[in-house]
Amino acid sequence: MSKFVGAHVSASGGVFNAVENAVAIGAKAFALFTKNQRQWNAKELDSETIDKFKIALQKSGILPRHILPHDSYLINLGHPELEGREKSIEAFLDEVQRCSILGLDRLNFHPGSHLKKISEDECLSNISESMNRVLDKTSGVSLVIENTAGQGSNLGWRFEHLAQIIDKVEDKSRVGVCIDTCHMFSAGYDIRTREAYDKSWSEFDKIVGFNYLMGMHINDSKAKFGSHVDRHNSLGVGEIGIDAFKFIMNDERMDDIPLILETIDDSIWAQEIELLYSFVH
Ligand SMILES: [Zn+2]
Ligand SMILES: [Zn+2]
Repeated sequence: MSKFVGAHVSASGGVFNAVENAVAIGAKAFALFTKNQRQWNAKELDSETIDKFKIALQKSGILPRHILPHDSYLINLGHPELEGREKSIEAFLDEVQRCSILGLDRLNFHPGSHLKKISEDECLSNISESMNRVLDKTSGVSLVIENTAGQGSNLGWRFEHLAQIIDKVEDKSRVGVCIDTCHMFSAGYDIRTREAYDKSWSEFDKIVGFNYLMGMHINDSKAKFGSHVDRHNSLGVGEIGIDAFKFIMNDERMDDIPLILETIDDSIWAQEIELLYSFVH
């Protein structure tokens, strides 16, 4: 077994519930929010919650490296204004510490937005600087930059953006990337045919490098190719189609990392996970 597929499951009622929710759908990996993703503040994780999470995890057999926590949607590490950036850094630091307390080794985040107030270059530098600050104050958790669809003023949709951020991060041993198939497609990297798939990923390897790939989001897309619109769909019924997911399940470059569904119908996640495993030859 070299592929670890799961979904972004609910942690409502306590982070330990995420483990149960993952196991219930036959997942061998999962993603979760360790706090409410739409609020700045959260209550500290208490020792009972932490213990329950660790016990549930042990029982599930799921390994920390196959868990991809996701940070709050409010955080913008590239924020054009100092005040907004400081608030984001503080919240992000808290998120990294929560992962660390739970024994997790990576945190997935959306790089940031320039809000049309600063240049792309400035925003990308802000992101790296913010990451450096947080890396300095923490240990054991890698910061995993997610590629975006490039909606609005969100950066990170071009592989070059990811490379530029990584370039200015001092501790490169604690930086990674998460590639979302819906986002890459919407950003203009085609994966629908074998030829397109090979071309897009060889570009990824050349510009970013597979050594940085620490997770993937496995989503079909409602939005058209190159539209820069971020709308997920269930596997095989969107604009990407099913073949791309067959290629991924047989691509050893995606071995041993969390492959996370964020598809729109959570009632069929168990079936989607089973379908993906059925593609492995
Ligand atoms: Zn995603
Ligand atoms: Zn998305």
